[in-house]
Amino acid sequence: MSPSILIFTDLDGSLLDHDGYSHAGAAPALGALRAQAVPLVFVTSKTRTEIERLQQEMDIREPFVAENGGGIFFPAGYRGFRIPGAVERGPHALILLGKPYAEIRRFVENRKTRFSIRGAGDLSLEELVDLTGLSPEQARLAKQREFSEPFLLADVGQLTALREEAVAEGLMITRGGRFHHLIGVGQDKGAAVRRVMEIFRANSAGVLVTVGIGDRPNDIPMLTVVDVPVLMPHPDGRYEDLVLPNLLRAPQPGSRGWNDAVQRILEGLRAEDA
Ligand SMILES: [Mg+2]
Repeated sequence: MSPSILIFTDLDGSLLDHDGYSHAGAAPALGALRAQAVPLVFVTSKTRTEIERLQQEMDIREPFVAENGGGIFFPAGYRGFRIPGAVERGPHALILLGKPYAEIRRFVENRKTRFSIRGAGDLSLEELVDLTGLSPEQARLAKQREFSEPFLLADVGQLTALREEAVAEGLMITRGGRFHHLIGVGQDKGAAVRRVMEIFRANSAGVLVTVGIGDRPNDIPMLTVVDVPVLMPHPDGRYEDLVLPNLLRAPQPGSRGWNDAVQRILEGLRAEDA
C-alpha cells in the first residue's frame, strides 16, 4: 500500500513570497496536492482569520495551526476524525495550546516604560501596513489575535532581559521573518505539529509520511518532528543553520521554491511506489 502524505507548511517566506505575499509560484504543486487529496496544514504566525482568507483563495479546507502553535483548528466533521481535547469554536474544532491574548497584552503593557517594545496591538493599521507590506484588509485580519503577540524591540540589547521576564510569567519569545513573537511557554510549532500527526495517525490506517516546510528559527521545532524536513532559503538566498536527517533545501525562496520542493517530494514518493 502506498504511503499517505501529510504536509505541514509555514506561510510567510515559504508558501508565500516574503515580499508581496503571493502564492502564485506554488500553483502547480497546490493543484497536484488538491488532485491527490494530500492534506496541506498551514503552520504559521498568522491569525485564524488571515488563514481562513488564504484557504479560501487557495480552495483549501484542511486543519491549520495558528499563531505559532497557539491553536489547532480542524474543520468541523473533517474526514470523520475523532479529535480528543477539542472544543467547538464556530465552524472549527479547536485544540487550545497557547495563552489568552489578553494575558500576553498585559505583559507588553506592563513593560512599555522599561523596554523599547511595541506589539502588534500598539501599532495602528497604517503602521502595520508600512512595516509588513500587507494590504489594509490583510493588516486588519493580522490584528485579530487570539494567542500570541508579534512585537518590535527598538533596542535589541534588551532582548535577553525581556526573555527572562517573559519566562517568569509563563511566556517565551520566538523569532519569525519580520517580528519577534511572544507566545506561551511550551507552545511552539513542533508541539502543535506533533499533536496534529497523532490525530491523523489515530484516525487513519497505513503508513503516513510527514513533510514540514519552513524558513526561520520558529519553524525549526516543526522541521525536527517530521520525516522529511524542507528548509526554504531567505530572500537573500542564505539558509538557517540546521542539520537534520533527510533535510531537503528548497532551491529558491518563496512560492517558486516551495513549488519545486513539493513537486520533487511527490515525484520521489511516486517513483518509490512504482
Ligand atoms: Mg516564514
